[in-house]
Parts: sequence; structure tokens; C-alpha cells
Amino acid sequence: MPSTPPSTPDSTPAAPQPRLRPGKLCVALQAESPADLLAQAEAALEDSKFLEFRLDSLPKPAAALPRLKEFLAQHRDVTAIATCRRKKFGGNFSGALNSELDLLLKAAQAGCQIADLEVESAEEAKLAQLAKFRSALREAGCAFLVSFHDFSRTRGLDQAADRIEAFSPDFVKVVSTARSLADNLAVLRLIENHSLSSHVIGIAMGEEGIVTRVLGPRAGAAFTFASSSGGAETAPGQVTARTLRNLYHVEHIDQATRIFGVAGNPIAHSLSPLMQNTAFRRQVVNAVLLPLKTRTLADLLTLALELPLSGVAVTMPLKQEVLPHLANMDPLTARIGACNTLRTGADGKLYGFNTDVAGIVRPLEKRLRIKGARIAVLGAGGAARAAVFGLVEQGAEVFIVNRTHETAVKLARQAKAKSLKREQFAKAHFDVLINTTPCGMAGSKPSLPIEERELNAGLVFDLVYNPLETPLLKLAKSRGIPVISGVEMFVQQGARQFEIWTGKPAPEAEMQRVVELALRTRG
Ligand code: NAP
Repeated sequence: MPSTPPSTPDSTPAAPQPRLRPGKLCVALQAESPADLLAQAEAALEDSKFLEFRLDSLPKPAAALPRLKEFLAQHRDVTAIATCRRKKFGGNFSGALNSELDLLLKAAQAGCQIADLEVESAEEAKLAQLAKFRSALREAGCAFLVSFHDFSRTRGLDQAADRIEAFSPDFVKVVSTARSLADNLAVLRLIENHSLSSHVIGIAMGEEGIVTRVLGPRAGAAFTFASSSGGAETAPGQVTARTLRNLYHVEHIDQATRIFGVAGNPIAHSLSPLMQNTAFRRQVVNAVLLPLKTRTLADLLTLALELPLSGVAVTMPLKQEVLPHLANMDPLTARIGACNTLRTGADGKLYGFNTDVAGIVRPLEKRLRIKGARIAVLGAGGAARAAVFGLVEQGAEVFIVNRTHETAVKLARQAKAKSLKREQFAKAHFDVLINTTPCGMAGSKPSLPIEERELNAGLVFDLVYNPLETPLLKLAKSRGIPVISGVEMFVQQGARQFEIWTGKPAPEAEMQRVVELALRTRG
């Protein structure tokens, strides 16, 4: 039977709050052996001096304590949290409550400055048992953190915080699981509401919960958790300390920081966060762009309006779905019927733009006069629409060739372009050939969108950018035909987004450099 905490939870006089200055970023560590745990701790110090030791990840947690003591004695600037969550509360420790309390106390005596006890264990403990534990912790100079975890959803957070606060701990930690972007709002609200009276940590686990991981400290959270490296996450959705620090600049985010997102599903591999956050930094713009895994447009719109977001880069299929929700859009975006960029106006309404057009037009106008140029577009999908409408507007003579000829005919009619059957295309010559089909993408078949003998153009532009050098670009180069890579489109559409969002010129060369480097590193 769980013990209800008394109104004054601890009858001994309240000790002064432990004087901790742990920093905003706690790196959570787990390992299969004490040696590995401490080796990881040593490596993590490069990123943060604030570490959580998940003792429950070890088969024999007690065996790690002598080494932990040695480590903390050697690194007196380190703040350490000890956690030994039991199996039935989502951890790995198979011992009973007594053993958990004993381990946490020994960890405190070994030098850990914060002991994390899950609220279920605190409630299970007898009052006297808990009071004795807390007083021993205090003697060891260790703060008391009580945590709540919901591994399936985000619901009833205030009740969870109330359960924890009934114990008057030094830190209140509420962790839920985000199933939507809107769940982030509930966690941030909880942090805001409780941070005046408690040292609170609020996190929504899962990919959708990234907003809480990055913006929690801004909302008033005492700190946020990070992993030591990719693959070493102790909780779903955890981001590496390096990413939080170097990509999202989490320690520099303040109330004035404007929040942007790139929305879609999947979105984890998007290069927009790298590109735009690099650009913000380079141009000294106080802003951050986050990857927003979006299952429904309604969910994205809730976050955009309530957080609020200053702008969003949207991917398929949201580009079309979002149109009815815009207060206004430029005429070309309306004609294309797709919007890839949202900006929130001073009136709180959403305004739409299509920067894919700039992504195609800008690289071309650097190389030739578009007006009057004969341009063949392979494909008639979303990217082709931006290319065809944008180039017709610039005065080009545009020819569309598509696997499904009727779609090419339809698009040509809408955009005042021409459609060509494959045999007509094969006999003609063009100033530019643009591939907007996925052919050439890593793993796609066929890898070439045309027959080798059909290549008859003065310049080849492949929108595919993974791999950096597609089979089509290779073929063109082998014939001495100049080429434009899809990376240039990606960077130029992003540069235009940056200009719309910030009113500043985009650092294009730097954006291109980091995107190319990331693509090369990914291989
Ligand atoms: P989409 O709307 O699905 O359109 C794909 C088009 O390609 C359709 O016309 C389709 O023909 C055609 N197609 C698909 N598979 C084909 C095949 N095996 N052989 C011949 N034609 C084929 O896609 P999207 O949004 O336009 O994107 C297309 C590509 O553009 C993507 O792969 C992406 O890499 C690239 N892209 C790049 C950027 C950038 O920033 N660089 C931006 C956007 C898109 P049917 O009509 O017959 O189905």
C-alpha cells in the first residue's frame, strides 16, 4: 500500500538547498560494465561536466561504486546524478526498494550530488524509511530528485508533478512520451507553471518531443538530458550533447530566440537544421530551427500557432495541404498550388511562399539567360511543378516529358508549357535538361532517367542530390556537358527561406559547404 506523504514530508529541519551549479546539459550514461561506464564518463567530459550514471544499466550496479568514487574524486568539477530505476518502473534494476535506496545512498557517499528516485518508489517507501534515506542523503551532501515517467503518452502531467511535489524534493522531474508535436506544449506549460516554485525538469520522449529537449531550459527547466553519442541514447528521442550544443546552441537560447522548424515525416535525416542553424549563426541571427516530425497538418498548425513558431519549412505532402490555412500567399505559389515555406506574420497569421522556384531559377540564371531558353523537364510531379511554373514565368520555352504522358499534358496546359512524347524528346536538342524524377537517387531503379543516346542538352541540372554525383551528372560530365547538382537547388531554396525569415542575405557558400560535407560524410 503506497504511503501518502505527510503535509510536512520530512520532520527533520529543512536543510539548505544543495548548492549545485550543474549547467544546462546533463549527459546520461549507461553501460554493460563499470569499466565501460567510467570510460564513457571520461569521454563525455569533453561535452559536459554534468553526468547521469544509470546504475541500473549494469548487471551488478554496486560493483561500479568504488570506480565511480575514484572518478568523482579525480573530477571535482563534475556534477553527478545517480539513478537506479527498478524494472517495474521502466528501468533495469531487478532489486527491491531497499536495495535501490541502499545503492542510491552509497552512490551519494561515493560523491554523486543528486540521487534520482522514481515517484512510485518514493510512494512505496514507508515514511520513516524515506525520512531516514533523505537525511542520510543530506548528510552526504546529495540532493533528492523525484522522477515520473510515462512511457506511452503525455497526459496528466500536473497530477504527476503534484505527486512528486508532495515529497518536497530538491528537483522535480516529469518525463512523458510525445505522440504529437502538441504534446511538447503540455510539457513546456508544465515547466513554466512549476519552475517558480521548484527546480523542474520536463521532457517528452520520442522523436516528436525534440522541442522539449531543446526549449525546456528556456521555459524554466533546471536542465535537459542528452546522450553521449549517437546510438548511446538512454531514452527514446534523446539527442547527443554535441548536437544540442553545436547544432541547436541550447545554452544560448533565450526568450528572444525565434523558433523555426522543418516539418515532415520522416524528417530525422533532413539537412535543413544543419543548413539553417549554420546560417543563423553565421549571420548572428538569434534563432533555431528544429526537425518536427509531423503526422498531421493540424498538429503542426497547433504547434506553429501556440509555441509560436516564426516559420516552417514544409515537405510533402504538407506543401499542398497547408494552402487553405494561409492568410495569404504570393501569386506564383498559388498557381503552383504548393507552398514549402511558412512565415508567421506580426498578426499571428501564416503566410506562404514557394522557394523551390528560387532553388531552380537561381542556379540557372547564374549560368545562362533563361528568357527564350529551351528547357526540357523530366517528370511532372511536385518538384517539376515548381520548375515548370517558375521557368515559364522567367520566359523560358519549357518542354515536359513524363513517364505518364497524360500528367505531362495536364501540367503543360496549366503552366502554358509544352508536353513531349519520349520519341519527340529523343530527337530534339535543349539548352537545359532538368531531371525532376527520383531516378538516380541512391538505390533507385532505373538509375538514369533517360537512355544514354537521348542526352542532347547544353547544361544538365539533376534535382536529385543523394548521391552528390548522380549517374546522369556523371554521364553529362563524361560528354563535357556542364552540370548543376541538386545540392545547389537545396541550398538555394533554403537561402531564399532564410531571406524570407530573417530579412538578411543568406550565407550561401557556407550553407553549401556544410550540406556537401554532411552528404560526403554520410556516404
Ligand atoms: P513526385 O511528386 O513523386 O514526382 C515524381 C515524378 O517522377 C513523377 O512525374 C513520376 O512520374 C516520375 N517518376 C517516378 N519514378 C520514375 C521512374 N522510375 N521512371 C521515370 N519517371 C519516374 O516527386 P517530387 O516531389 O517531384 O520529387 C522528385 C525528386 O526531386 C525527388 O527524388 C527529390 O530527390 C528531388 N527533389 C530535390 C529537391 C532539391 O532541393 N534538390 C527538392 C525537391 C525534390 P509519374 O507521373 O509517371 O508517376
